[in-house]
Amino acid sequence: MLIRVSQGSLAMLGLTKLKMDAEPSTIYFLQYSPGGCKASCAFCTQARVNIGSKDFLSRIIWPRVRLEDILGRLKGNTRVKRVCFQAVIKDDFIDEAIEISRRLSSTGIPLSIAITPVNREVLYSLYEAGVERLGIGLDAATPKIFRNVNKPYTWEKYLDFIRDGLAVFGEKKVHIHLIYGLGESEEEFLRAMKMLYKMGADVSLFSFTPIRGTPLANAPQPSISGYRVMQVLRFMLSTGQEIDTIVKLCGGKVYLKRDPRWLRNIHKAVLTSGCPWCNRPFYNESPRMIYNYPNMDLVKKNMDKILRELSARVVD
Ligand code: SF4
Repeated sequence: MLIRVSQGSLAMLGLTKLKMDAEPSTIYFLQYSPGGCKASCAFCTQARVNIGSKDFLSRIIWPRVRLEDILGRLKGNTRVKRVCFQAVIKDDFIDEAIEISRRLSSTGIPLSIAITPVNREVLYSLYEAGVERLGIGLDAATPKIFRNVNKPYTWEKYLDFIRDGLAVFGEKKVHIHLIYGLGESEEEFLRAMKMLYKMGADVSLFSFTPIRGTPLANAPQPSISGYRVMQVLRFMLSTGQEIDTIVKLCGGKVYLKRDPRWLRNIHKAVLTSGCPWCNRPFYNESPRMIYNYPNMDLVKKNMDKILRELSARVVD
């Protein structure tokens, strides 16, 4: 059975050579579809309608491999802390996703699947196949952005799917992928994060990355200062802290009042957010402009820069 694997993951498993500034602690798989995904998300190279190479997802190359050739490298591999499998929409993708999940979970490594809305019975089948956590690419922070970027189905269907996911996998075991910088205001982005945490889900932050061959190829990358603010607030929400008293809203922008509760945790807030051990090295970024830091060594090395990026958004 064919499947795609991120190039960094292949290198981590010793199947290709790649000079890496940071190693992935999760191995990332992508369901293989020669024509790409039947959905038409405007930011995604996998969308069938977009002309970008189907070897890419975000900035990363995903070579095609035989699943059987990888499984043996995963079993007993203590450097691999999690396996993530991203499904696409194609004919019979659900049955194939369940089968792939069964084989990946047989390695004994915790497994996450990221999939578009499916019914609750399918979620139970995935759970029985050994999936531990669910990723959901809501991607957009508002219903209007959701429509603008051509997400499949509807905003309401995604919210129902999040509720179903929480019922099957449990609180905080459903990770909602949100892309910052698709045209929403910072205030709208914050409102979406608060809604998702109130539902019992967790938020995985992605920064919008313009990719050649997609309709958004020439759209600008988002403000790094605004992204840092969202990282700080996401971290606080994820650890159950109150945020209203430290937030100042002004013209759709979000500012942070100086407060030790977030100041002492900046180093943790800027790390990649997601399932435990998901670090997605350089998925959204070049090593020169890092939005999500894949490890603490890189955070420490860049702490002055991170504080400068945040300083424009801190008020007394
Ligand atoms: S947060 Fe990371 S490991 Fe979890 S589903 Fe998303 S990409 Fe996969």
